[in-house]
Amino acid sequence: MQNMSCKIYMDHAATTEMLPQVRKAMEPYLMEEYGNASTSYEMGRRTREALEGAREQIAMLIKAKPEEIFFTSGGSESDNWVIKNVAAEKKEKGKHVITSKIEHHAVLRSCEYLEKLGYELTYLDVDAYGVIDLAQLREVLREDTTLVSVMTGNNEIGTIEPLDAVASMLRGTGTLFHTDAVQAIGQIPLSMNQLPVDYLSASAHKFHGPKGVGFLFVRKDRDLPSYIHGGSQENGKRAGTENVAGIVGMAKALEIAVEEMQVVRPRIVRLRNYFVERVLREIPQGRLNGHPHKRLPGNVNFSFEGIDATSLLVLLEEDGICASAGSACNTGQTRISHVIEAIHVPKNYAPGSVRFTMGRETDRRQVDAVIASLKKNIGLLRGE
Ligand SMILES: *Cc1c(COP(=O)(O)O)cnc(C)c1O
Repeated sequence: MQNMSCKIYMDHAATTEMLPQVRKAMEPYLMEEYGNASTSYEMGRRTREALEGAREQIAMLIKAKPEEIFFTSGGSESDNWVIKNVAAEKKEKGKHVITSKIEHHAVLRSCEYLEKLGYELTYLDVDAYGVIDLAQLREVLREDTTLVSVMTGNNEIGTIEPLDAVASMLRGTGTLFHTDAVQAIGQIPLSMNQLPVDYLSASAHKFHGPKGVGFLFVRKDRDLPSYIHGGSQENGKRAGTENVAGIVGMAKALEIAVEEMQVVRPRIVRLRNYFVERVLREIPQGRLNGHPHKRLPGNVNFSFEGIDATSLLVLLEEDGICASAGSACNTGQTRISHVIEAIHVPKNYAPGSVRFTMGRETDRRQVDAVIASLKKNIGLLRGE
């Protein structure tokens, strides 16, 4: 379905359109199947089955166990839950937590909150491509480091982080490992029987599911303190009557994303490479941010010299193109994002950083239109 003001939607990292099949799967649980999953009669039993069916399906799709999946309200909640509560649970062992400078604010702000409570945080540097500094990690890792949080794929510049290398460094130390996979899940293959993390955050609306629902993967036998106290939902860890329709929709959306990945991913990667090559060739004084190939399939992030991203976005929107400067939470401010800062984009380029994120419905014709609009409007802004 096409939105009138965003004829060309290039902001899939901000959110994605819910698929009709997802809506269809959700519909019964928005209407007639309204039973509370905690009740004993038939209607509640059916809700419970839908809920547990969704849990099993999500577990199967990421090669986890159903009891390792905890439903939440989304990525921010999953991140907050792990960072704050696992750190608190482990405070007898130590109060040192490590993360990176380019995490999503849901992780960074949770870490800053821990600092206020007296924890010691280390924010790892990244290289020019946005890859975390593994040598620094080795140096700062200590006996009292309880948790390391490094994202799977960056939401602004798309860089995919070396999680395997982090995990090998942590092996045998007792330090727990969390990854924010909100941008990566459904985009690149993720199998929990291979990915060596203890915790993983995901959010449905980033993979064509509904908003306000997500999950936290917690490897079997790892600590997970109760966080919303009350009823016995989510194994007593997160009380509250479940968002059944949302959870069912999330399972359906993930099923479609995983099923289609083999076809969608190579197509989007080709489209991305085409997009990048043409822009760098045809628009002078432009640079690609993030890793040239170790990046999320649909992510493209450019900086253009002497351009103000906010002005460029206004002009792009006049051409029906919706894109973003930095992360969504930074809109309205011409402030340079913490990610663009961390990768040391040159001063005359940094304010001209724009992100285009493509999705399953993006096609070549749309990319061509974006390139044409970029050429025209950058020329205009540069007074050519
Ligand atoms: C969108 C996003 C989040 C937040 O997820 P919500 O479900 O919107 O709370 C967290 N981390 C990353 C990397 C994201 O892209």
